[in-house]
Formats: sequence, structure tokens, C-alpha cells
Amino acid sequence: MLKDLRSLNYKEMQTEIINLGFPKFRVNQIFSWIHEKCVDSFDEMTNLSKDMRGKLSEHFYISKLTINTKLVSKVDETVKYLFVLSDGEYVESVVMKYKYGYSICISTQVGCKMGCKFCASAIGGFVRQLSVGEMLSEIYTAQNDLNIKINHLVLMGTGEPLDNYENVVKMLELISDENGQNMSMRHISLSTCGLVPKIYDLAKLKYGITLSVSLHAPNNNIRSKSMPINNTYDIDELLKACRYYSEHTGRRISFEYAMIKDVNDSDEYALELANRLKGMLCHVNLIPVNNVKETDYVKSSVERQKKFIDILSSRGITATVRRTLGSDINASCGQLRASKRNK
Ligand code: SAH
Repeated sequence: MLKDLRSLNYKEMQTEIINLGFPKFRVNQIFSWIHEKCVDSFDEMTNLSKDMRGKLSEHFYISKLTINTKLVSKVDETVKYLFVLSDGEYVESVVMKYKYGYSICISTQVGCKMGCKFCASAIGGFVRQLSVGEMLSEIYTAQNDLNIKINHLVLMGTGEPLDNYENVVKMLELISDENGQNMSMRHISLSTCGLVPKIYDLAKLKYGITLSVSLHAPNNNIRSKSMPINNTYDIDELLKACRYYSEHTGRRISFEYAMIKDVNDSDEYALELANRLKGMLCHVNLIPVNNVKETDYVKSSVERQKKFIDILSSRGITATVRRTLGSDINASCGQLRASKRNK
């Protein structure tokens, strides 16, 4: 069976290439074609002989995505891709332009097992894990297509990154490899619904990536109703893991809180949240909940959002409302893939 060269780290690639009888210096060349110049085929590796390229293609392939749909926002240049994988499955990625450069939000799984009630990605259930090479290809394909250098990465698309832990960690190593894209770990955020044991594992790696935690509720009662994971790891366990993460890495935790009208947005809940987060190195990111066709959650009003922030701030917890990008192109996670499936 052919192996995906894009899913191998430097050491693995070195072993494979040397086993094929290639001299060692070829490893750097091939690594650079795949992870620095981001080519999708052996034919583009012009400093290798035809024989060498032929030999590579007898043993390997390079995972590759095809662009099925590309939507460019007229309001803020956000670009949303719907990619097709080699088995015909779809994944989404979004490229956003900020003052500091380009950022990409990628998917880590096809579908998701977590079943959060407000989330479009949960609707069709879980299909499969994305490989290391497929996740990297989301970044490389977008970068090639737009002819830009992407220097920030968020794992906040479809899927639960910590439920694809090994592949995600390997992907993080590769995207930050100095012989490849050399992306700074400090420019990477990983968002989780709260797989507690994996938060500890990630903390121990001391990568310095930002951990975003989808909290969305001030107490177990509310959280368990919309997030099944809360029945396995409750808020106290989750926050203990978050404290451990920030103490171990020195990084501030970013808590995601989708504001849902009459569900989690009252003054009382803001106070409860502030008490829970007291003393933690953290920031609260309020997200006006996106209306997903299949759910009946409604956004909180702007006044509600402001009041919620005021209460948190007055208790020493910094909070902001997340800026919405690409609102005209369905840029939130899962929406495009879901619309494809419903056709
Ligand atoms: N599984 C990971 C990452 C994917 S979801 C996680 O749970 O964090 C990315 C973010 O979008 C999460 O914070 C998620 O809770 C949030 N989200 C999902 N559906 C949403 C919706 N309808 N409105 C607002 N935020 C939503």
C-alpha cells in the first residue's frame, strides 16, 4: 500500500527515503517540496531526476485536496473553502485577513462525535478522522490558491481536535518545523469542548499554543443540556485542567461562550461565571450564537452581550465579543458542509 509522504514527520521521512536508497541530502529537498513549497505531486520536484520521482511514486502518494467551492466575502475578504478529500468526503476551512496577517481555521475530523446541540457540525455525526497530511493540505491548498503566506492557525473548524489527538499533535509539529512553514506555536490556537485527560497531555508538551475552551455555560445544569461531554467531564474537572494548562504553559486560557437568548445570558449567570473563573489567567470570548437551521437557539441581544461583559469585567474577568467575519458567506463551521449534505 502507498504511504502518504505528507503525513510523515522529518525523522520518519528520513528513514523511508534512505531505505529507498536515496542519499541523505535528498531528504531535505523532498521535505522542502512537501512542506515549504507545498507541492501536491512528485512531477513538480524538479531537482529530482525522473527516475527518482518514479521511484517515489511507486511507494508514496501526497495527500491532496480539491477545491469544490470557494466563497469570497464581499465585506471583509474572508474566504471559505469546501474541500473534497480523496474518498469523496467534504471538509471546510476559512481564511481570514487580520491586521497582523492571514489566519486559517481548519477542520480536524469529518463530522464530529461530540453532539453539541447548537453546532452544525454535530448534525450528521462522526464520519472519520482527518490524517496529518489532510489537515496540512487544508492550509497548503488555501495558501497556494490565494498565493499568500498564512501565519496563524486555529483548530476550530469541524471536529474535536483532542479526539484526533495523535494526528493533531503531529500536524502541529510539522506546521512549526523550521524546514517547512516554520509557523510559531504562539500563533496557533486549539479549541476543545473539554476532553480533560487530553488537556493534561497537551499541557505537558509545553507547546505554547493557546487553548480555547468551549464553555458556553456557567454551571453543569445548563452545560449538560447542550453539551453531552459535560456528563463525562464536568465543569469543575474541566476548569481544574484549564488551571493546570495555564500554570504549566504560562498561557492564558480563552473561554468561548456562545450567548443564547434566555438560556445562558442573564446577569445571574454572568456573576456565576465570574465566580468560577476567579483568579484564573483567562479571557472570555462571547460569541453571538449562530442560528443553525436545525436548532431553535436564538442570539442574545447586543444590550445583553454588553451587560454580560460589564458584569464579568467588574469582577476582573476580561471579556470581548468576537468579531463576526464572512457573515455573507456562511463562514461559520459546519454550515457549508451541512448545506452540501442536504442537497
Ligand atoms: N470541537 C471543538 C472545535 C470545533 S467548534 C470545540 O468544541 O471547541 C468551534 C467553536 O464554535 C466552539 O467554540 C463551538 O462551541 C462553537 N460553535 C459551534 N456551534 C456554534 C453556533 N451555532 N454558534 C456559535 N458558536 C458555535
